[in-house]
Amino acid sequence: MTDWLEGKIIERKQWTDGLFSLRFEADIGAFKAGQFVRIGLDIDGERVGRPYSLVNAPHEPLLEIYFNVVKGGPLSPRLAELNAGDTLWVSKGANGFLVLDELPEAKHLWLLATGTGIGPFISILKTEQPWSRFEKVILGHSVGYASELAYRETIKAACAARNGQLEYVPLVTRESVPDALAQRIPVTIESGLLEQRTGVKLTPESSHVMLCGNSTMITDVTELLAKRAMQRHRRREPGHITTEKYH
Ligand SMILES: Cc1cc2nc3c(=O)[nH]c(=O)nc-3n(C[C@H](O)[C@H](O)[C@H](O)COP(=O)(O)OP(=O)(O)OC[C@H]3O[C@@H](n4cnc5c(N)ncnc54)[C@H](O)[C@@H]3O)c2cc1C
Repeated sequence: MTDWLEGKIIERKQWTDGLFSLRFEADIGAFKAGQFVRIGLDIDGERVGRPYSLVNAPHEPLLEIYFNVVKGGPLSPRLAELNAGDTLWVSKGANGFLVLDELPEAKHLWLLATGTGIGPFISILKTEQPWSRFEKVILGHSVGYASELAYRETIKAACAARNGQLEYVPLVTRESVPDALAQRIPVTIESGLLEQRTGVKLTPESSHVMLCGNSTMITDVTELLAKRAMQRHRRREPGHITTEKYH
C-alpha cells in the first residue's frame, strides 16, 4: 500500500507539445539522487499512481519530475494539465537502485538516457558524489528532435563547473543538428563513434554504465556490452551495467 502525501505544484514548465516538468512541495523525507517516487491523481473516483524519477537533487527544496504525455495513458495526459497551485499525490519516500551508492568502483561513469530518462541523471549530476568518485562522467542523451534536449542549461552549467570532468553528448535521430550525433545510442556504441567523440574507452576495467529510458535502448546496449564482457550489476554479483526501464 502506498503511503500518499499531498503535494502542491509550484511551477509547471512545458518544453515541447508533449514534454513537461512539474516542481512541487511535499515532505517525502530523505532520498538518493536517481530514485523515483509514485505520483498519483484521483481519476473517476480512483487513485491512479505511476512511478516518476526525481530530477531535483536531494538537497534542493522542491521536488521535480520530467515526463512526456503518453497519448491514451490514464495519468500522464492529466499530469500535463496541472498548473501552479494544483495538487497531486506523492508517495512518502523514494525507491530505486539507479543510485551511485549501489555502484562498484570505476574510473569512468557513463550515463546514457533516452527521452525523459535524462531526469534521474540530472539529479545525480547536481550532487557532489560523481565528481569525487569518477575521473570522467559521460552523459549521453538521445532524442528524436533537438527541442527535446531538455535541461541543456543545467547540463551546460555542470560542464562549465566541472572543467572537463563532464562530457555531454546529445544524440538527435530525426533531424540534423550540429554537434549532435545522428544515430541511436546502441549504433554509436557498436560503431565506436561514442568512444571516438568522447575520447574515452568503454571497457569492463574502467567503466560503469547506467542506462535509463526505453527498453529497446536498454536491451540493445546491454547486449552490445555483453560482447565486451560487461554484465548487469547486482549486489551479490558485481557488474558494469545498472538500468531503469520506463516502458
Ligand atoms: C521506475 C520507473 C520510473 C519512471 N519514471 C518516469 C519519468 O521520470 N518520466 C516519465 O515520463 N516516465 C516515467 N516512467 C513511466 C511512467 O511511470 C508512466 O508509465 C508514463 O508516464 C505513462 O503513464 P500513463 O498512466 O499515462 O500510461 P501507462 O498506463 O503507464 O502506460 C501506457 C502505455 O505507454 C507505455 N509508456 C509508458 N511510459 C512511456 C513513455 N515515457 N513513452 C512512451 N510510452 C510509454 C507503457 O509501456 C504502456 O504500454 C517511469 C516508469 C518506471 C517503471
